[in-house]
Amino acid sequence: MSDFKLTAEQKNILAKKLSHLSKASCQSCGGKEWIASENIFEMREFHGGNLVIGGQSAILPVIPVTCKKCGQTIFFNALTLGILNQGKENEQK
Ligand SMILES: [Zn+2]
Repeated sequence: MSDFKLTAEQKNILAKKLSHLSKASCQSCGGKEWIASENIFEMREFHGGNLVIGGQSAILPVIPVTCKKCGQTIFFNALTLGILNQGKENEQK
């Protein structure tokens, strides 16, 4: 199910916001190639192993970026990147 794949516009924003990665080395292996996911993932707040959806439970939307060489994966907050603010004012230019 890929209803939440990034649009072309969102990919553009992502490429701009993560352009600094072209100079960044992987902390784990020193690799220099990164692959950004084309999907937004969610991290759910931990509730002692109980599944809690909605209510007071926080959800963090993230874009995983993986080192091509060793697989270390780092997460970028999709809200901070501004890719979830389509149609609203661009607060983080
Ligand atoms: Zn690596």
